[in-house]
Amino acid sequence: MLSWDEFDKEEAPAKAPAAKPQAPKAAEPVVSAALNTMNSEDNAGVVDQAILDKANAAIEHLDVAAGLEELEMGAARLRVEDKRIINCHLDLNQLVPFKYDWAWQKYLDGCANHWMPQEVNMTADIAMWKNPEGLTDDERRIIMRSLGYFSTADSLVANNLVLAVYRHITNPECRQYLLRQAFEEAIHTHAYQYCVESLGMDEAEVFNMYRELPSIAKKAAWSLQHTQALGDPNFHTGTPETDQELLRNLIGFYAVTEGIFFYCGFTQILSMGRRNKMTGIAEQFQYILRDESMHLNFGIDMINQIKLENPHLWSEKFQGEVTQMIVEGMQLEIEYAKDSMPRGVLGMNSGMMEEYLQFIANRRLSQLGLKEQFPGAQNPFPWMSEIMDLRKEKNFFETRVIEYQTGGALTW
Ligand code: FE
Repeated sequence: MLSWDEFDKEEAPAKAPAAKPQAPKAAEPVVSAALNTMNSEDNAGVVDQAILDKANAAIEHLDVAAGLEELEMGAARLRVEDKRIINCHLDLNQLVPFKYDWAWQKYLDGCANHWMPQEVNMTADIAMWKNPEGLTDDERRIIMRSLGYFSTADSLVANNLVLAVYRHITNPECRQYLLRQAFEEAIHTHAYQYCVESLGMDEAEVFNMYRELPSIAKKAAWSLQHTQALGDPNFHTGTPETDQELLRNLIGFYAVTEGIFFYCGFTQILSMGRRNKMTGIAEQFQYILRDESMHLNFGIDMINQIKLENPHLWSEKFQGEVTQMIVEGMQLEIEYAKDSMPRGVLGMNSGMMEEYLQFIANRRLSQLGLKEQFPGAQNPFPWMSEIMDLRKEKNFFETRVIEYQTGGALTW
């Protein structure tokens, strides 16, 4: 526990420095004068005048107009109506005034839902995993496959956010959420690592599945192909072609990777938890799922706002391409369902999962304003809707959220 007493102790000077006060020269900056007074007879804090002179000269010639975002210092103050999600040339260091309240609200909701993997008790899972009678081979296969896919998938999402997407989103409130989301992706990768370590799994086997196991490798490769163009330092938005490339990336990651590729594994693990098996892993997945629902909703809102502000990008041809992306993602997830579930297990089978994924694909299409492709597809797992689809962002895990917020407060 932090307390101000300790700060006081550390900050109390052991000995007053034997300073030789000097009157600052008229033109000399105050900081330089203050540093000069550090000279003392016992040599503590001797300042090299040449270094000081160089530092002062550099500050004197500092170009206040230089910056990553090519700021125009002295330009007119920003107006909220000029804010745009992409291709906006306003000062991106100024968060307010808000234009996109939904983005800021999601940032606040994300912070209110903060959690850490080590808060979840894994004792029962360890006992069940180590007990030869604890789980069937099919159940073990599901756990291995899930950790195999997810342990690297969240890293792919995080790297895409930080290395590809972030610099092209020219709105501070959206960037604020992206920063929160990037941290949540790190927490998710941490959670999978924590599960793998707790169960004493072969780390190399699990973390290499995204390259070595075909049904997982295909999903990872599909996501990665949509990050390559944006990762190029010479890529810039601002033309219809490059703006569409950015949209392909956002749809590929938010609507497909986080919106479809996570769904078979989440359903399987949560079904296990509902049967009182591997409840620690299931609880981790519930927290992750709550975060992921918000990532998905944020992504959909951002994509739809870009469409609104740039209607020329949403051509009929492009809509056809996006529809195909959603169907491709659904097919890859069905392949994964068949591979991870060769027989019926946990009250489900790959046929039921296929229908569920058609239902999910329909939802993604309609969220993006596109025509549903699988008329009549039903949700065979209505209990998943209870967890995922309902808007329970604030109260879903009420007790733990409250616990976390009070437990993390400073007292003095
Ligand atoms: Fe995510």
